[in-house]
Amino acid sequence: MTGPAGITGKFAHWLSGWKRQGGDGMWLYLDDVFAEHETGKHPECPDRIVLLNRLLRQRGWPERSQCPTWSSATREQLQAVHEVAYVDRLKNWCDMAAGRIESDTVVSRGSWQAALRAAGAAIDAVQRVLTSEDKVAFCAIRPPGHHALPSGPMGFCLFNNVAVAAHAAIAAGAERVLIVDWDVHHGNGTQDAFYDDGRVGFLSIHRSPFYPGTGSQSETGTGRGLGWTRNEPVPADIPTGQFTDRFQRALSDMLTRCQPDLILLSAGFDAHRADPVGGLCLMEEDFQALAKHVRQAADAHCKGRLVSLLEGGYHLDHMPTSVAAHLEGLQG
Ligand SMILES: [Zn+2]
Repeated sequence: MTGPAGITGKFAHWLSGWKRQGGDGMWLYLDDVFAEHETGKHPECPDRIVLLNRLLRQRGWPERSQCPTWSSATREQLQAVHEVAYVDRLKNWCDMAAGRIESDTVVSRGSWQAALRAAGAAIDAVQRVLTSEDKVAFCAIRPPGHHALPSGPMGFCLFNNVAVAAHAAIAAGAERVLIVDWDVHHGNGTQDAFYDDGRVGFLSIHRSPFYPGTGSQSETGTGRGLGWTRNEPVPADIPTGQFTDRFQRALSDMLTRCQPDLILLSAGFDAHRADPVGGLCLMEEDFQALAKHVRQAADAHCKGRLVSLLEGGYHLDHMPTSVAAHLEGLQG
């Protein structure tokens, strides 16, 4: 028997057993195709992914991780969340390089392929985390997704990547999923997608009052989803310690309620204090600590299964360094 690093014999057996209890590797989804979603003079710009990919490569993250090849999302997978008419309309907008298609959202010819690849990465990550030894994944994707609605684009988002991924997890056999969203903006599209669904919980901590105006504590779900939505709106001047305390308490409550098989993380980095669009109290080390906390929660509650997706984060220096800190935290 050969174990990690070619170790043989009894020790290899012990090592391979240890490895089987939950791999220590991470799936990392990187692709320069996401830079082909051109948005002109816009905070959600191709440089976000260009600079992020450059930093992650400089720091050796592809070598420290497993970088899979993956397929674009299919229409069927997208239509678990989005209306057929919207998928068709978005394809036409991209083919025409229509520019502004919503007050904040812009598309180019390359946006279609980028959007399909982004949603496809989220789906592929879920499937790998549910079936392989390595239980943690990060998708460095754009366009972001958590504002996207079944019927249309919203707030820089085309397809709701995390919602599509949650449906893929259910289709792959997960019984319950918890989506955690710490982007500075409320993930209204994600909340809407599962508001009456007793299989997918949604926890959002976000700045309030702020765009898009939803996400009050009174929004808790309906029907079978009653109690499965938890919003933690926080003021712009909240101290970091209070932010962290509220996040940890809410996460603990939602884990008890949902008992998920998998945690999906809408990881926005626009709660960084230097962010030009959002901005709260957080710094790189806080994103690392938050990620470590969610990783520990996944280890304790769902066999370590955790898929993190890039949402917002618009400071071209601090978003990449915050993501790098996030990856350190995800590794535990
Ligand atoms: Zn955001």
